[in-house]
Amino acid sequence: EGSVYDASDGVYRSHRPQIQVPPPHMDIASFLFHNTTQQQQQSPCFANKIAVVDAITGQSLTFSELKRNANSLAAGLAQLGVSRGHVVLILSPNSIHFPVILLAVASIGAILTTVNPLYTSREIAKQIKDSATRLIFTVPPLLNKVQNTGIPVVLIEGSILENIILGISYSDLLSADPSKAPRLQIRQTDTACLLYSSGTTGLSKGVVLSHRNFIAAALQLSVDADLQGIKDEVVLLKLPMFHVYGLAAVLYAHLQKGVTVVTMPKFEFEPMLEAIQKYRVTYLPTVPPVCIAIAKHQGLEKYDLSSLQEILSGAAPLGKEIMEALSLKLPNAKLSQGYGLTESTGVGFILRGQQDTQYFGAAGSLISSLEAKIVDIESGKPLPPTKQGEIWLRGPNIMQGYFNNKEATASTLDDEGWLHTGDLGYINAKGLLFIVDRLKELIKYKGFQVAPAELEALLLSNPFILDAAVVPFPDEKAGQIPHAFVVKSPGKQLSENDVFRFVADQVAPFKKLRKVTFVTSIPKSPAGKILRRQLIEKPLAKL
Ligand code: ATP
Ligand code: MG
Repeated sequence: EGSVYDASDGVYRSHRPQIQVPPPHMDIASFLFHNTTQQQQQSPCFANKIAVVDAITGQSLTFSELKRNANSLAAGLAQLGVSRGHVVLILSPNSIHFPVILLAVASIGAILTTVNPLYTSREIAKQIKDSATRLIFTVPPLLNKVQNTGIPVVLIEGSILENIILGISYSDLLSADPSKAPRLQIRQTDTACLLYSSGTTGLSKGVVLSHRNFIAAALQLSVDADLQGIKDEVVLLKLPMFHVYGLAAVLYAHLQKGVTVVTMPKFEFEPMLEAIQKYRVTYLPTVPPVCIAIAKHQGLEKYDLSSLQEILSGAAPLGKEIMEALSLKLPNAKLSQGYGLTESTGVGFILRGQQDTQYFGAAGSLISSLEAKIVDIESGKPLPPTKQGEIWLRGPNIMQGYFNNKEATASTLDDEGWLHTGDLGYINAKGLLFIVDRLKELIKYKGFQVAPAELEALLLSNPFILDAAVVPFPDEKAGQIPHAFVVKSPGKQLSENDVFRFVADQVAPFKKLRKVTFVTSIPKSPAGKILRRQLIEKPLAKL
């Protein structure tokens, strides 16, 4: 049922049917509109189906409007001089305009790069320089972050005055004649997006993703959804659209299938529950912090969440314990996990629609048309099921390389096309992937390796603990010791000793926590990752 191991070459292959990549002249925009136009022919009411709706403002676009706006904007951008290979940057919270901009930019052979709205002007300026950005789309509250870059700015929903000052207005661009959109031949191997990795383990790198990468990832996900017989989906996109998970694996993948995407400009817990209720959301792709929040939330009964059929967690580790707690909170929703990277267009392993607890904690099985190897860190040899090693991936969704960074590309993408993910894991006898942790994040205690993710999952299983993170702390004798940052559940009494003992009772001695600090929250990125470097920097700063 899962990934199949071939002992002759050490490669795991997907058990799912292969995808058919469309003819090479189709780019991400024409492919999406081709698919949705087909659906319009099959079902007359489809033309007025909502493609994307903002759960907070109620603004929406039907599939026909999405197409018209994207073509108008493409025409407007071409008139502005944006052309093939030019990089356009978007600095914006999620909105219904995001997919319009993505499709318009890509349809004229230009390249969209996205940026986290929380970044400072300095960080944004760095990305602008690195990517050679020519034009910026942003919203009025974020304008100050890019005003002094010297790059032309288009304000999405700017006031008349602001638009006059900037000299370009989004509504003017959108009023261009859609039939004037340039019809150039785009090669599917051309770059569609330049997405920056999260920068969790170091400086973030520009990941070059082609039109084919996006289309392949969407189709790979569709194969899985089709196998599960999933129909009439309504997906809630509260993950950031600037991140590959929100952009490729949720927004693009669902729109190209004709699925309505309900979006939220920023993530807030209660409004998310309200949106699920109001739009009868069936599918919630999310990240571990939200799963933890739901699992530990009191008062879910206030909301009618009966439409919710499935929750998918990805982007960071989620332990079995939290999945179990979550399934008790939402007994009607199936829980699943996915694993992917910016470098794999957000997809890799997935398992949808499983309710059986034996699958909890697994990051899924190989997605269609993707190959994997589990490689021994020392010998470099591929390993059979149950053996732990570095995860390598190869397939049509793997990036073209890092932008302007030959060295990083060469050390990540080898001559045979394998992406060395830097993640440690194993595939079990059933073909399911279990992620241990990132190689870079393992704590080295006296020559033993301790995976923070394992200790975090354990800590979270304690009802007295609301949230937790484990990082290495420098130690003269041991090299590094595991240091836990712990957030207590409201109204609960818990001492450092309680925490030490709770963990020590359940793990091998070398994995024991050696240091505990109580904090009020754990720093996390909008894509749900623990910002370990902030925690590691803290004690170091004190030394
Ligand atoms: P950077 O590469 O810049 O340090 P990053 O690796 O966090 O940042 P992303 O591409 O957003 O940037 O994240 C991919 C990583 O997220 C994977 O390499 C893996 O470590 C982690 N990840 C994704 N899905 C899962 C999952 N289901 N379980 C555990 N870890 C996951
Ligand atoms: Mg990475």
